[in-house]
Amino acid sequence: LVRLEAVNKHFGDLHVLRDIDLTVDRGEVLVVIGPSGGGKSTLCRTINRLETIDSGTIYFEGRPLPAEGAALARLRSEVGMVFQSFNLFAHKTILENVTLGPTKVLRKPRQEAEKRAMELLERVGIASQAQKYPAQLSGGQQQRTAIARALAMNPKMILFDEPTSALDPEMVQEVLDVMIGLARDGMTMVVVTHEMGFARRAAHRVVFMADGQIVEQNTPDEFFTNARTDRAKDFLSKIL
Ligand code: ATP
Ligand code: MG
Repeated sequence: LVRLEAVNKHFGDLHVLRDIDLTVDRGEVLVVIGPSGGGKSTLCRTINRLETIDSGTIYFEGRPLPAEGAALARLRSEVGMVFQSFNLFAHKTILENVTLGPTKVLRKPRQEAEKRAMELLERVGIASQAQKYPAQLSGGQQQRTAIARALAMNPKMILFDEPTSALDPEMVQEVLDVMIGLARDGMTMVVVTHEMGFARRAAHRVVFMADGQIVEQNTPDEFFTNARTDRAKDFLSKIL
């Protein structure tokens, strides 16, 4: 579904992505882990072109990412993103947050968008909160709203950038459970997270990134029990 070839990205003098080669297959769940500043968020953001790249090529469904215009807008709707900081519209209700993209971008009739939004809110377990505003919900509920909002665009894949790291501990699992459900249903997902339980249960592959490079990648079982590089072993010893 996605293929990165020799991708490089700099922020000024900082070389944040170094010759990244990576593929994500349809239906695959990839967990990206690694030390702070390693380039994980930047990697995610290049896939829906929130960041441009300096060299290399990123293919989505076999074609290089579009640079602008309607094709870029379509890419953004096909590649959903869920951030650490929910990014909901504070002055819109939960239901409005989920219907906004489908009505404005996909030009769906309101009624149809609302019906689908309610199904999705049901799926993430917060249908009863539909008429509330984000500030009236817990962090976990807000993040589940953000996931419903991403799903409402019928994305071909979803990028998650540390979706649970801003949450109180007791709310982490309810969000991970929704993500595990999506993974089981075959959604293609790239998930930056240090939640090893999620990686073990849902990931097909773990990609360990440090200093802008993919240092190693393996199945979760192999990676967590038999990391090959000192860099990964050292990182694991600090988080496990
Ligand atoms: P974390 O685990 O802390 O989220 P990360 O692996 O996601 O880290 P990135 O956010 O991709 O890392 O950042 C990689 C490097 O690029 C960091 O040194 C960061 O300071 C720098 N960086 C990120 N975004 C920008 C930007 N817009 N302008 C300048 N430097 C940036
Ligand atoms: Mg990050």
